[in-house]
Amino acid sequence: MNVASILKSKGRAVSTVRPNATLLDVVKKLAPKKIGAVVVVGDSGRVDGIISERDIIRAVADHGVHALGMTVSEVMTRVVVSCQEMSELDELMEMMTKGRFRHLPVIEDDALVGIISIGDVVKYHLAEVQLEVSAMRNYIATG
Ligand code: AMP
Repeated sequence: MNVASILKSKGRAVSTVRPNATLLDVVKKLAPKKIGAVVVVGDSGRVDGIISERDIIRAVADHGVHALGMTVSEVMTRVVVSCQEMSELDELMEMMTKGRFRHLPVIEDDALVGIISIGDVVKYHLAEVQLEVSAMRNYIATG
């Protein structure tokens, strides 16, 4: 299964934030949507970075409650690993394991067209495995 088919099923909505927003703004986006990261998009409309709940925890550990007034650009990860619509599920698992992160923005021709979380990866991988198991069972049963 590739990213294009995952996006067809889960949709292409991506929560984004501006680099000059505060960490409190980010927390207020993450909590109600029950998500763990937002993509940082600058004035040019290009992806400038990504900020996840882990970055916010680290900032609070370093700066205390004042961290919530810091800007996204002070805390975000600037080198963003992304995937394309043609990327396969196996590649996403490898990228997330190697990079030790749980979110992969989908970028096509410099445009942000979706995001895949580790939750999506687990969900669609499980569906693939279940399909294979039932095909094998069917094959064995019918000879
Ligand atoms: P996460 O596991 O997604 O909460 O992120 C863990 C750390 O990796 C945080 O510092 C994030 O800013 C960073 N991170 C998350 N996704 C990516 C990505 N696709 N590329 C680079 N860094 C990322």
